[in-house]
Amino acid sequence: MIKKLRIMTPGPTPVPVDVLLEGAKETLYHRNPKFKKMLAAASEGLKKVFRTNGHVFILASSGTGAMETAVANTISPGDKVVTVVGGKFGERWAELCRAYGANMHEINIEWGDYLRVEQIEKALKENPDTKVVFTTLSETSTGVVNDIKAVAEIVKNANAILVVDAVSGLIAEPLEMDKWGVDIAVAGSQKAFMMPPGLAFVAVSSEKAWKCIEEAKSPRYYFDLRAYKNKYTDTPYTGAVNLVYQLNKSLEMIESETLEMVWKRHAIFANAMRRGIQALGLELFAKKPGNVLTAVKVPNDIDGLEFLKVSREEYGMIFSGGQAQLKGKIFRVSNLGYVDRLDMVSAIATIEMTLNKMGKHVPIGSGVRAVEESLLEADKDESFS
Ligand SMILES: *Cc1c(COP(=O)(O)O)cnc(C)c1O
Repeated sequence: MIKKLRIMTPGPTPVPVDVLLEGAKETLYHRNPKFKKMLAAASEGLKKVFRTNGHVFILASSGTGAMETAVANTISPGDKVVTVVGGKFGERWAELCRAYGANMHEINIEWGDYLRVEQIEKALKENPDTKVVFTTLSETSTGVVNDIKAVAEIVKNANAILVVDAVSGLIAEPLEMDKWGVDIAVAGSQKAFMMPPGLAFVAVSSEKAWKCIEEAKSPRYYFDLRAYKNKYTDTPYTGAVNLVYQLNKSLEMIESETLEMVWKRHAIFANAMRRGIQALGLELFAKKPGNVLTAVKVPNDIDGLEFLKVSREEYGMIFSGGQAQLKGKIFRVSNLGYVDRLDMVSAIATIEMTLNKMGKHVPIGSGVRAVEESLLEADKDESFS
């Protein structure tokens, strides 16, 4: 049977042909003035999506490289940090901070649950010497989105800076760095940017953050932000030339749709998927699901790994499974990046068909109907087209 590959995973995400073609253009020398101009344009475009007038740095790495950059540049061994661990990516902040010898205070949240502002308040009250608070906007492993605006409100009044992992959240969920007071945020190219993997971004918005960066004593070299500072039209090392072409195309596409509309699209699609899932009698995993992806509990009588295999092998549809202790227990359907309405319909149709094929009788068409109804309702809103 003919099968088209459909990636409905929260990274990598589908890449539009226009972005792919940019990657096929002639590779310029990275000191060529033409390329320097492109880098400057990319930096300016990135500021718009991070909503900051600060600096946004472009690194050649995956998102975790940007996370390591944030840790290595802000803490010295022995510094007190607060990390929020409610999933695989919050755990990654803690692992990184431990690797750099931080004095740890971890806020542990049951996976699937979300961060309460009072937990940050309490942690900072008990640890007034906290230097950096590390949080996650969209916890991709559970589908939860945290209220970063409220967290920033608290951290602003403490003697600490706020670092946000926005790798899957940026562009999909509102994040207002300057307005909310987020000092540092990180992102990656293979999520809402609709690009291949390979670039990571670090945005630094405040003087407070720069002071931290200047004073931090952790050893660092390739990821030392002091080497990148004031180098907008240049990179200290070889720039990822073709990926920067792709980045400019992606930023151009986002700007023409408008960032507000992209946020809205993600909200509409995630809402449609939640309704479809519930119409099938399945349960959502996240206590406060965000608009990046939908995490679904695997029904008890179904093998979660087999579900991924059947949907992939029968239909060419790639969903993500659960990570770590959630392996086999949930599956995740992304609506991140270059995803359209019919992608949402085919995702829910795949879930219906796969479950039925596996002997789990869910009512054929009821998920599809709920998704379509939800999308049609959203269409009535004239500002969404
Ligand atoms: C994808 C992702 C990362 C980075 O993962 P890489 O594989 O290093 O790109 C970090 N945090 C979150 C929340 C993510 O979704």
